Amino acid sequence: MTKVWKAAPLPPYVMTYHKFWEERISNEDLKLADRVWAVAMARSKPNLHTPLGDDELAELVGKKMPNGETKPAARKSVWEAINKLIDSGLLDKNSTRKCLILPAEGFGNRRRGWKADCKNCTGKLSEENKDLIRPGMSGGSLI
Ligand SMILES: [Zn+2]
Repeated sequence: MTKVWKAAPLPPYVMTYHKFWEERISNEDLKLADRVWAVAMARSKPNLHTPLGDDELAELVGKKMPNGETKPAARKSVWEAINKLIDSGLLDKNSTRKCLILPAEGFGNRRRGWKADCKNCTGKLSEENKDLIRPGMSGGSLI
């Protein structure tokens, strides 16, 4: 008898494209917090972490100057934007300027590496993330 693998039914979801969000990162018409959010949406890894270099985030959401150079966003402003996103639930509470983390309760994926440790921040996924990162996709369910 052939064994048939059946995935648990997926909860309702929407798919987004990294490219769409990548284009929003440099859109200076958006608020700083929106641009920081776009970085996480565009560059998150399958484990929902977005590893960044020391001043990479400030550069990404900086202001383009007339001479073509980018003036990095002030560190305090970036910090405030991250905290605003954490407070509103759009980023995980462990997010920092070196690693933006999407909230596991809002995302799931089937990409390889979804349970990989993050080498840029804690080095480990929190237990709560491990349980939530793939709801409805590995036998579990959101309900
Ligand atoms: Zn991380």
